[in-house]
Amino acid sequence: MPEGAGDGPLGIFGGTFDPVHYGHLRLAEEAGSALALTAVRWIPAGQPALRDAPRVTAGQRLAMVRLATADNPLFEVDASEVTAARPSYTVPTLERLRLPDQCGGRRPLVLLLGADAFAGLPGWHRWQSLFALAHLAVAHRPGFPLERAQLPPELAEHCRDRFCSNPAELASSPAGRVVTFAMTQLAISATRVRRLLASGESVRYLLPDRVIAYIRRHRLYPQP
Ligand code: ATP
Repeated sequence: MPEGAGDGPLGIFGGTFDPVHYGHLRLAEEAGSALALTAVRWIPAGQPALRDAPRVTAGQRLAMVRLATADNPLFEVDASEVTAARPSYTVPTLERLRLPDQCGGRRPLVLLLGADAFAGLPGWHRWQSLFALAHLAVAHRPGFPLERAQLPPELAEHCRDRFCSNPAELASSPAGRVVTFAMTQLAISATRVRRLLASGESVRYLLPDRVIAYIRRHRLYPQP
C-alpha cells in the first residue's frame, strides 16, 4: 500500500498456520481492538526458517488462512512469503514492508506475537533489528509466562526501556515499543489440532468449519 493510503497502526501477523485455528483468530481480532489497529495483515510463512517443515504445502496453508479470514474486513492476507523461493525470516519481511511502494517508513507497524514466540525471539535471524522496523505486541498464551524475570535475559535487557503500558503510544511512532495484551486464553495449538486429526478425533470448535471442510476435502493431516 503506498504511503498515505493508510497511515494508522498496521498489525503484522506471521506464522506457519499449519493449520490456522481460533487461537490465531482471537489473537488477531483482540489485537485489533486492544491496540486500535487499522488492519491486521496475515503473512503465512513459506518455508519457516526455525522449525520442521510444515505438514502441508504453503499453498494449502495460505488457502486455509484465506478461508478463515475472508469475512473479517479488518484482516488482509499477504501471500508473498508463500511464493518466495527462500526461507521466511521476519526481519527481511518487515524490511520489504518498509519499502516506499509498500507501507513506507512512517506508518506504525505492530508485529503480533504469542508469548511463546516472543520468548523465542533471541533465536531469530537478526532479531535485534526488529525493534527499528516495528513495535512488538505480545499476547498472553496459556503455559508461556510473560513476566520479565522469566524471559531470556538478553531479551529482557533489550526490551527493558521499550515496554509501554499504554497501547495508544504505538500510534505515535513507527517502531520500537513493546506492549503485552491479555487476550482470551485459548489453549489451542496447531500441533494439537494436527494430532487430533491424525488420530481421527474431533477438531470441531478449535478452528473454523470452513477450514475443517478444506482439510477433509484435501485429505490433509491423515491418519498414519
Ligand atoms: P505449532 O503448534 O505448530 O507450533 P502454533 O499453534 O503455535 O503452531 P503458529 O503458526 O506457530 O501456531 O503461531 C503463529 C503465531 O500465533 C505465534 O506468534 C504464536 O505464538 C501465536 N499463537 C498461536 N496459537 C496461539 C494461542 N492459542 N494463543 C496465543 N497465541 C497463539
